[in-house]
This record gives sequence, C-alpha cells and structure tokens, in this order.
Amino acid sequence: MLARNKFKNSLFIYYSSIFVIFTILIMTLLYQREKKYRISTLNDELENLTEIVQNFTNINHIRETGKYHMIDSLVRLLPQPNLRITIVDNTGKVIYDSSVSDWSTMENHKDRPEIAESEYSDFGTSIRRSVTTKEDYYYFSKSYSNYFIRAAVVYDIRIVKFLRAKLYFAFIIIITFLIIWSLLAFVTNRFSESITRLKDFAIRVGNNEPFDFDQKFPKNELGIIGEEILDIYKNLLTTKDDLANEKEKLFSHLNALNEGIAFFSKSSARILTNNHFIQYMNMISGDLTISTSNFFKITEFSPVLEFISKFSSVEINSNELPKLDYQINKHGKFFQVQCVVFHDKSYEVILNDKTELEKNRIIKQEMTSNIAHELKTPVSSIKGYIETLIKDPQIDREKLVYFLEKALAQSERLSGLINDIAVLNKIEETSASFSFENVNISEIATEVRENFKSAIESRSMKVEILNLEKVVVKGNRSLLLSVFQNLLENAVKYAGDNSTIRISLFREDPQKYHISFSDDGVGIPEIHLSRVFERFYRIDSGRSRKSGGTGLGLAIVKNAILLHKGEISVRNRKEGGTEFLIILPKMP
Ligand code: ADP
Repeated sequence: MLARNKFKNSLFIYYSSIFVIFTILIMTLLYQREKKYRISTLNDELENLTEIVQNFTNINHIRETGKYHMIDSLVRLLPQPNLRITIVDNTGKVIYDSSVSDWSTMENHKDRPEIAESEYSDFGTSIRRSVTTKEDYYYFSKSYSNYFIRAAVVYDIRIVKFLRAKLYFAFIIIITFLIIWSLLAFVTNRFSESITRLKDFAIRVGNNEPFDFDQKFPKNELGIIGEEILDIYKNLLTTKDDLANEKEKLFSHLNALNEGIAFFSKSSARILTNNHFIQYMNMISGDLTISTSNFFKITEFSPVLEFISKFSSVEINSNELPKLDYQINKHGKFFQVQCVVFHDKSYEVILNDKTELEKNRIIKQEMTSNIAHELKTPVSSIKGYIETLIKDPQIDREKLVYFLEKALAQSERLSGLINDIAVLNKIEETSASFSFENVNISEIATEVRENFKSAIESRSMKVEILNLEKVVVKGNRSLLLSVFQNLLENAVKYAGDNSTIRISLFREDPQKYHISFSDDGVGIPEIHLSRVFERFYRIDSGRSRKSGGTGLGLAIVKNAILLHKGEISVRNRKEGGTEFLIILPKMP
C-alpha cells in the first residue's frame, strides 16, 4: 500500500513539477511584456505632453519673449496630475521648471540621466529623487533643436500601480493550472493503479508469494494490458502445474514398474532413473553404494558403451531406432539389458530382472523332460504287454490275466501321474479357481485315515489324531485333503511296519495353527531333506516306483500349503522318523 502511494505520488510530483516550471516561465514572459507595454504607454503620454509644451512655446514665441511663466497656465490645464515640466537648454541650464519659482538657483541638468539619454536617442527616461523638490519622479526628456523639454510625474503610488503589470492573466493561468492539476491527479491515479498492481504482481511472483489473480484492473489501456499479462501468467502456471503433474505421474509410473529405467543425455549425463535401475545396478555390480554416474564403470555394461559410441557420430534416419538387447548372468540371477538410442542421440537403458522367469523356464523345461521320462516307462510297458499278447494268440489264460493285470497296473500308474501333474498345474496356473470354505483339519485327518484303513491295519500301523478338533481354517477342502492324503500315503509307504503316525496341533497363535505330521519310521537322509519337495525328486526311485510313487506327492503338498499362504518344512525326529511341520493361517 505504501509502495503504491509512493509510486503514485512521485508520478504526480513529477508531472506537477514540469507543469509548474512551464507555468512560471509563461507567467514571467507575459509579465515582462505587460510591463514593457505599460512603460511605453506612459512614455507616449509624456511625449504628447512635451509636444504640447513645444507647440505652446512656439505658438506663443516664449523662447523669444522669455515669458516662460505662461507655461504654468498650460501645465495646470493639462490632464496629468502632479505634472512637472522642465525646459533645459543645450548647456544643461534650466530655463523653466513648473515646480520651482526661481530656476536660476537650480543646478546644471546636463548630467541628468534622462537628459543625457535623450541627447542621443528619441527620448530619455529615469526614475529618481529630485534634488530640487525632494520628491521621487518619473522623468521623460525629449530633445528639440536646441533645448530639452522634460515632463515628469511624481512617482507616487498611482504611477507605481499603473506601471505594475496587471496580473489578471496570472489568475487565468492559475485556474488553468488547478484544472489541469486535478485532471493530472485523476489520470495519475488511474494509470498508477494499473502500474502499481503490475509492480505488486511482479514482486510477489518474483518472491514466490501468493497473489490474488481475480482482482480487477482499472478499465484503461494499462489495465487491459495488466489483465492480459495476468491471464498469460495464469495459463503459464496451469501449464506448469499440468506438466509437474504429468511428470509426477510418469515418475510414479516409472517407479512402479518392475523394470529399471534410466534416461541419459547425448553427453551421457543422467536425466532420469527409477529406483529399480539403481537396485539392479547394485545387484549386478555387487556394490551397494554405486550410483548412476558410475554406470559405465561396471564391466557388465561395456556392451552398452560400445553400442552408444557406435551411434554417437552416425545419423539415425530410420524410424526403427537402434536397439541393443543382451542378458547378464550374475550371482545366480539373470538380467536382461536393453538400450535404445533416440534420434537426438540421447538414449535409454532398461534393466530387467529375469531371474524368476528364467528359473521358471528352466523348471518348466525340466518338468517337461521329467514328464516325458516318467511317461515313457509305463507307456512302453503297456505297449510291451499288449504286443506280447498280440504276437501269441494261443497264450494260456493264466498268462493272459497276468499280462493284463500288469498292463492295468501300469495304466493306473499312468493315470496317477497324469492326475498329479494336472493338480500341480492347476495350483500353479489357475490358483484363483480354488474355492475357499471353513475346513476342519480334524475331519480331514480322520477321512484320510479311513481311506488308508486297510493298508494301515495290514502293516500294524497306528494313526493318532491329537488336538485338532477345533482347528478350522479357511481353505480348499479337496487340496487340504490331498495334502494329508499324500503325507499319510508316504508314511505308509516309507515309514515301515508297526510305525506310529501322529497328526497334532503343537502350537496356536492368534493368526496361525502349527501342525505336526510325524512318523517314527526310517526317516529321510539329511542330504535329501532340502530337496524332497522338488518335483520328481525321489530318494530311492526304484522303491518309490514300485510303491506307485510319482515323485510329485510332496511337490503337490508344498504348493497346496503355499496356496493357503502357509509354510511347510521337514526334519528328522531325534527319536527317529520324519516330521513335517505345517503352519496354516487361520484366515489366509
Ligand atoms: P513319491 O511319489 O516318490 O512318494 P514324494 O514327493 O511324495 O514322491 O516323496 C519324495 C520322496 O521323499 C520319496 O521318494 C521318499 O523317498 C521320501 N519320503 C517321503 N515321505 C517319507 C517318509 N514319511 N519317510 C521316509 N521317506 C519319505
């Protein structure tokens, strides 16, 4: 507010000063002209009087007669009050003076300024105190052939007033000044308002302070310009905001990506990098403190450097941008490195952690060859039995039944294998298709025990189910059934006769149930413990096959537990036998 008034005042003072100087100049000029005019009017009047005196003197032959007193009566008749007429001869001697009775006593007037001046000019004037009458006079002297006639008026207030230039024009000028001055004040006010607002705007924007964009400018040219500037700035701000938002979105998008992305300028200066890029760079280099600026110091990225230098001086014309794509295998991890050079020679580097995909690819590959291998045996056995039967049509009934039973057993094994593969596949590929419900683990264990009743009895085994009555989890019933089915089947197959199998809840916390599935059989050799959950992993494949095992049982168990967001581990019991520890969340 103070700044606003200051500006307005200085603008006003500036214009006012120019105007005042201009007015004073004009007034002085006019005053001088007026004064000159008045003096010349007085001089004209006095000259007329000297002319009258001259004529009077001539007509009445006064100079010849020396009757100068006659002029007294003329002076009295003349309209000019306080008039004094003096006649001075060439030598300066006063020969007549209307205000003095004895002229012979008067001093010589040759040196009087007006007399001296009139000797060389048309006339002479001066204002001065009279030595004779001791009064101030305005003297006017004119030279005639051999004498001077001097007319003087008392320089009293009347004459002073007359000579003083009339200042009426000054009033007109002052009134004009006042009118223009107030107009000036009005105009200054209007213009200064716009300028002050613009200045306020510029200062605030410069200092990053808030500014009210909705305020109105005065409706004049400057105001319109001001509003236009504000509008342009407002648009600029909106564009800037939009750009910042877009950048923010792009950034969060880049950071949400699983890929590591970095953009580099033509001179290899970093423009933008996301978190994954730095993380992958750290993993590849093995240096956790490395930064993007050290990208090219990592030997694994030297192909990128070569690729970029190859294109640094080559014009890229085609629509297809040059692209580099290779893989790094480091510390058991696989990374895909891609580099694209753009037309302006800036480039982007993309790092992708392909470890999971690569591992899955290898697992799938192994799985396929395992399946092929596993299928080969039963299929070729069935084929063999059938071929034998075809070759020998006379085969006796007993042999026929034997071969057919063998072929049936192999086809059952085949269907078991296919079934296990299908279950595993379903868990992995379409896990969402499993519906979840409340499942009582005690009921599941009891049902499984029922299914294996005859096998258990024939081997004099015992299955104890402890503390499971209240164990209810949200899960898929058939998957949980196959978990316990597989575990029990293995225990029956491998633990041995007379063994006791125990299924029990050994710990419960607010979120989880900890279940133990143990037997007191032969156990699993320590070196195999960590691998028994792998697909097709068998300790004794001959024994496993003989007992109908596919090597997929524990893989199904592990995957089914993981689908329930649970955990499973296996260990050998101190007392002998195997123990599977299963953790199931109450609410997955
Ligand atoms: P399989 O079809 O061969 O039974 P699994 O995946 O179910 O395949 O089991 C893998 C291997 O783990 C089995 O071959 C077996 O040697 C071993 N195993 C599993 N359960 C037990 C157990 N309770 N006692 C001893 N060994 C076991």
